[in-house]
Amino acid sequence: PVAPVRTAMGAATGTAKGAVAPATLEARAVSAWFGSHQVLQQVSLTMPAGQVTALIGPSGCGKSTFLRTLNRMHELIPTAAMGGEVLFDGEDIYAPERRLTDARRRIGMVFQKPNPFPAMSIYDNVVAGLRLTGTRVGRREKDELVEESLTRAGLWKEVRDRLRQPGGALSGGQQQRLCIARALAVRPRVLLMDEPCSALDPTSTRRVEETIHELAGQVTVVIVTHNMQQAARVSQQCAFFLAEQGTPGGIVEHGPTEHIFGTPEDQRTADYVAGRF
Ligand code: ADP
Ligand code: MG
Repeated sequence: PVAPVRTAMGAATGTAKGAVAPATLEARAVSAWFGSHQVLQQVSLTMPAGQVTALIGPSGCGKSTFLRTLNRMHELIPTAAMGGEVLFDGEDIYAPERRLTDARRRIGMVFQKPNPFPAMSIYDNVVAGLRLTGTRVGRREKDELVEESLTRAGLWKEVRDRLRQPGGALSGGQQQRLCIARALAVRPRVLLMDEPCSALDPTSTRRVEETIHELAGQVTVVIVTHNMQQAARVSQQCAFFLAEQGTPGGIVEHGPTEHIFGTPEDQRTADYVAGRF
């Protein structure tokens, strides 16, 4: 989908109520280590505001690690180290005056396995997104935010009459959309998704893809996927990661999705998108 026209204020037109404008993320020469094992070398990639960028490549090439450097989750792993910069609308999220919670609030994350709090109500699961990032809101505003977030995640109609039921009672696909709603509750400007559909059936996968389509233009999305059709369906930009034997992971090629799939420049990209390894 084409990103909606932006107003002079920088807000996207036609966004959900209360939504904020998407931000551009720029990774500059990002390297990453676990102990002395380097897993990423000098990865640079611009993820334009309001677009969906898909990260593709074989297992173990550092896609998840790269995603975690984009919202400072990487530094929570005790043995982990990194180098380089991540610019959020031009500001380095690793600058000394920047706090971890700033990054966490602006840059949401959704994981492979749906991980709602199973015993907590659907309502409280969405609100938990606020608590996890230290965002305080009043009672009335909370109700509105829960409806807004569930609507944006494409789940509101299915759960509006059962908000007090436990999150664990939902189907797998609904649980994943609940996790998306929880991430959206803080109105992040970027959403990172690490193989969000790998644990879902095809119908649920479609629903999540529809949700990603709806979010395009409102939020900058970076999605890791092993599903080439999915990358082609949801993204405007694609980056192909590879870690060749004994070397850290890096980007072989990136560009508009139709180029990566239709006219890749590197033979390794052509082989990968054609399913040859
Ligand atoms: P991908 O998501 O592309 O499959 P990952 O980013 O998960 O790749 O992993 C990249 C490399 O880093 C792999 O060699 C993996 O074994 C290693 N790795 C990932 N997480 C950790 C960790 N917590 N501790 C040590 N090594 C890790
Ligand atoms: Mg991974």
